[in-house]
Amino acid sequence: MAAEPTLSNLATESRSFAPSEAFAAQANVKAEAYDRAAADREAFWAEQADRLHWTKRWDRVLDWDAPFAKWFVGGELNVAYNCVDRHVADGYGEQVAFHWEGEPGDTRTITYADLQREVCKAANALTELGVQAGDRVAIQLPMIPEAAISMLACARLGAAHSVVFGGFSPGALKARIEDADAKLLITSDGQFRRGKPAPMKENTDKAVAETSSIEHVLVVKRTETEVPWTEGRDLWWHDVVDKQSDQHEARSFDAEQPLFILYTSGTTGKPKGILHTSGGFLTQTAYTHHAVFDHKPGESVYWCTADIGWVTGHSYIVYGPLANRATSVMYEGTPNTPHEGRHWEIIQKYGVSIYYTAPTLIRTFMKWGKEIPEKYDLSSLRVLGSVGEPINPEAWMWYRENIGKGNCPIVDTWWQTETGAIMISPLPGVTATKPGSAMRTLPGISAEVVTEEAQPVGPGGGGYLVLDKPWPAMLRGIWGDEQRFRETYWSRFAEQGYYFAGDGAKYDDDGAIWLLGRVDDVMNVSGHRISTTEVESALVSHPTVAEAAVVGASDPTTGQGIVAFVILRGNAAKDGGEEAIKALRDHVSAEIGPIAKPRQIMVVEELPKTRSGKIMRRLLRDVAENREVGDVTTLADSSVMDLISAGLKDSS
Ligand code: ATP
Ligand code: MG
Repeated sequence: MAAEPTLSNLATESRSFAPSEAFAAQANVKAEAYDRAAADREAFWAEQADRLHWTKRWDRVLDWDAPFAKWFVGGELNVAYNCVDRHVADGYGEQVAFHWEGEPGDTRTITYADLQREVCKAANALTELGVQAGDRVAIQLPMIPEAAISMLACARLGAAHSVVFGGFSPGALKARIEDADAKLLITSDGQFRRGKPAPMKENTDKAVAETSSIEHVLVVKRTETEVPWTEGRDLWWHDVVDKQSDQHEARSFDAEQPLFILYTSGTTGKPKGILHTSGGFLTQTAYTHHAVFDHKPGESVYWCTADIGWVTGHSYIVYGPLANRATSVMYEGTPNTPHEGRHWEIIQKYGVSIYYTAPTLIRTFMKWGKEIPEKYDLSSLRVLGSVGEPINPEAWMWYRENIGKGNCPIVDTWWQTETGAIMISPLPGVTATKPGSAMRTLPGISAEVVTEEAQPVGPGGGGYLVLDKPWPAMLRGIWGDEQRFRETYWSRFAEQGYYFAGDGAKYDDDGAIWLLGRVDDVMNVSGHRISTTEVESALVSHPTVAEAAVVGASDPTTGQGIVAFVILRGNAAKDGGEEAIKALRDHVSAEIGPIAKPRQIMVVEELPKTRSGKIMRRLLRDVAENREVGDVTTLADSSVMDLISAGLKDSS
């Protein structure tokens, strides 16, 4: 008897979109890269490392003593020099690095020469405050240029930054300061949130009061909010940084010098302090930004909408793009301030050619309606990207048609805080993409989908996504906790030495990879292992549904029953009646089979999400199983769970 499948493969997709001939002809990376990289992985990555400026060449490309990797062993470089100074030295000082757009509509244009001056001044200021190579600096700032400048100043000095998302509570900041033992905190007086200034320093003060390592707090003035002040400890950025010399000599550091610590989003539980180092990280972020987005320095206008508090902001707002001499848009605010067309207005204003965002936002745009983007000129767009969650095929099609106007390749990029850079993604000039699939590993990257027993599942099969070979931007550990590092990532397939990412995936019959959500969320219905992603995508493919989250709730007859929470689209939003629910259940049944028909569907106004916009299913499982709702500290809006629970009581 055949072993039970690790994950059932229910959904099929026949649509496929090849790049246009014109796009393919001019693409940065062609199909031959896959074979070249497979033939000699280390030589391939050495070639990519040559995109950077090294002051001392490495002796060895890779030293792999699982689970510990060293890349470009013996090599030396300065990350900030690579991201800023060398472009100025090459004669591109007048090229814009950031078109910054503030939420209230104020703007700043920062050229590479400006950025060099600002980073040098900040590096001098940090030195004056006692920051040295090997130290840790905590940064909690809104999306303002000083966020990138602070990160680069740390990198320049060989100090590791730990950026904490601006919306996090004093408790979350405190835990991160303590864990990293940071000596300096960089923050701001306040931050704009939906058109209003909200205090920031007031919160960071609460965190600092409960820690002992912080010697100084450097405060950027952003909102003119009144702030509490501790004489001697607190310093204004404009007092300390502005007076510094704009000359600073960048020292070289070992390729394995810690660059930053960043805590994961906390979708599944307590965040982990992921450590990244310098040479390998910069090599892979630069290469993938070049390859996946088809970025052309001096020509492309690139916009990644992530917050700098997440890994996407680190790798694809700061390090990768700057290493590639990108001209980027940086936007401070929310997508509906002051109106729901804000993103499209910005794309039109700056002629954005590459736009990289998250499925949660695409589904929100769907909910708001296509009439909004229709009012703007989006013809500058060439490439569209997605990251953060599996993108539902329907959202992918909406993105393609309404934003890309059918002309832009979509790159669905799978990666994690831990991987540091994109791992699985189409190449826009090569891959014929399927809506909802991240397609295949990038050149130089290797992954497998395996069963519980570590057997490759083969075409049509589903299972655990593992990374079976080391990669340059891989995490070097969990800060200060080797035990947790080994247990979390390397214990499940210890014998094979595979890194296990926590995600489920399948191959379709053509060998394309489909990410199927967290394996912890997989539902077991009458012995069928069903992924949340496939059922959610079936729901979202119904014209009335904007967003869906499904969970398995214990069921006396089937083991688990599927419970779905749906948000209806704008014009359907009022109709959550019995008829409509029945239609949705039948729709899922017709799309992927009766086994996946939800036992229960509940219409809700909002879904519980992390601050980075990912659906937190474990909380919904608590609701579906009538339990008290678990830890909500990483939730973006903790009132959402009250709303959902209250709504359910009303309808029962
Ligand atoms: P935690 O590990 O603390 O629970 P997290 O996993 O949400 O938090 P991140 O590192 O920000 O923290 O997110 C990485 C995860 O996001 C991946 O493991 C995967 O589940 C999901 N993900 C990211 N991009 C994609 C994508 N393109 N397709 C499918 N899933 C994706
Ligand atoms: Mg994770």
